[in-house]
Amino acid sequence: LGPTICVGEILVEIMARSVGDGFREPIDLVGPFASGAPAIFIGQCAKIGGSAGLIGAVGRDDFGRLNLDRLKADGADISAIVVDDLYPTGSAFVRYRSDGSRDFVYNIATSAAARFGWSEAVETLVHRAGHLHVMGSALSMGSAVDVIERALPIIKARGGSLSFDPNLRKEIVYDADTERRFRDLVAAADLLLPSGEELERAAGVEGEDAAIRRLFEMDVKEIALKCGAAGAKVFRPGAAPIFAAAFVVDEIDPTGAGDCFGGAYVASRRLGLGPEEALTIANAAGARNVTRQGPMEGAGTREELGRFIAETARRSR
Ligand code: ADP
Repeated sequence: LGPTICVGEILVEIMARSVGDGFREPIDLVGPFASGAPAIFIGQCAKIGGSAGLIGAVGRDDFGRLNLDRLKADGADISAIVVDDLYPTGSAFVRYRSDGSRDFVYNIATSAAARFGWSEAVETLVHRAGHLHVMGSALSMGSAVDVIERALPIIKARGGSLSFDPNLRKEIVYDADTERRFRDLVAAADLLLPSGEELERAAGVEGEDAAIRRLFEMDVKEIALKCGAAGAKVFRPGAAPIFAAAFVVDEIDPTGAGDCFGGAYVASRRLGLGPEEALTIANAAGARNVTRQGPMEGAGTREELGRFIAETARRSR
């Protein structure tokens, strides 16, 4: 039914080499790496053979080139990505704290990343698309919200589907409008891809079982729950939950694991695989991604993920 599409921020990520508290003194950095949750998702989707396209913008600069080259190499459709002549490509400086949380210095709102809208190229891609994936991180971005709100009814009218990754960030302000959009997307989603506590946040109730029940009542048809180094689960109404034990890997850089997981899960399901097989592939995509520095560097092809699955031990429950 046509490609999977995603709308939102395209960035370069520049990472601190050391763990610590923010960026208030000179530190060693590594990067730039191609990034942005929607870009990571679409890159992984395309890499395993799902037709996938991204809607967003980069600047006419080296950072933009880096992102476009990466997406093209991964096999993504970049026809609806604007190259802005005036504004630079978006960026994020990232540093991990010892507790695993992250500090960011973003340049998104005032960069090319936020400067796109409905265009002929977007219209063409949307009218071909069979699935829309929405990243919660796009909800505070007016340009992304406009495109998503226009694209969704078109895709649904064609019999296409919607997936939603809540992608909560402490830097995003959930004002009344953002909160309403968040709720609407949960209610409209066929597939939800929360991680950890985002499940309860999406359902609006506490406890895993209660949250799952509530989401099924809201007509969500499938939930792929990401549990970091504890693996992942899939829930579907009327079926027993499926659990995938995490692969045992050396975690070098957790950035992008959830987006790779999502891209691999959605692409696998859309390629016609069952939830169990899709979960195995997605679990592998997330795990493999954390073994490389850079959010898009560890995404795998179908073949690479197959090899990874065959060769990598899994944790016992
Ligand atoms: P998010 O980035 O959205 O918070 P997670 O951190 O839960 O997502 O990671 C997504 C998926 O990637 C996990 O469900 C798991 O399958 C895999 N994964 C992430 N971190 C690890 C890890 N350290 N070891 C093994 N698998 C991992």
